[in-house]
Amino acid sequence: MRLTTATASDTDDRVTAAPAVDYEQLMLTGRSLVVALGYDPDDESWRETPRRFADSWREFIEFDPGVVDTAFDGLASDQLVVVSDMRLWSVCQHHLLPFWCDVSIAYVPNGVVLGLSKFARVAHAAAHKPQLQERMSEEIATTIQRLTGSTDVAVIARGQHLCMAMRGVRTPGSVTSVVLRGAFRNKDHVYSEFVQKLRA
Ligand SMILES: [Zn+2]
Repeated sequence: MRLTTATASDTDDRVTAAPAVDYEQLMLTGRSLVVALGYDPDDESWRETPRRFADSWREFIEFDPGVVDTAFDGLASDQLVVVSDMRLWSVCQHHLLPFWCDVSIAYVPNGVVLGLSKFARVAHAAAHKPQLQERMSEEIATTIQRLTGSTDVAVIARGQHLCMAMRGVRTPGSVTSVVLRGAFRNKDHVYSEFVQKLRA
């Protein structure tokens, strides 16, 4: 992850808290899955699988990206801020198979500039649930917009989906989603600057 430009004031920290999972239900589901796949969950080699299954889902859903560091104090409004190449892990809502995404976020501060770890927190909060890449990108953009008060926000996500790579078309390849809001929509200099920074 790299931060190209940053500065500014502290804002609220209302990033959606992760829900608690039903651990017992996950254990039962893990066991049922083993049965549904045609194996004996009481066989020695399978005995720990329902617990591991429950543990990994709990860890994924209840993931806490950690405390946000202090944001900086306010700066000029026409400076482009770009945080690029944040690797996120998520699970596809359609297949419940993992995907990962390299996400870049840009915005033009409107008096408020977020700290680096807040970007990561926002991004991870959007990723740690059954998700669709497009919706995840939209959610990140909306939260950044809310936290910064800026309407000029862009998110580019490049994802690799196991549901594409290991089943179905079995074709590894990246899926790109682009969210452009405010000044970025006009594809003017702000947009070009963003794209340029991603290529740098
Ligand atoms: Zn899928």
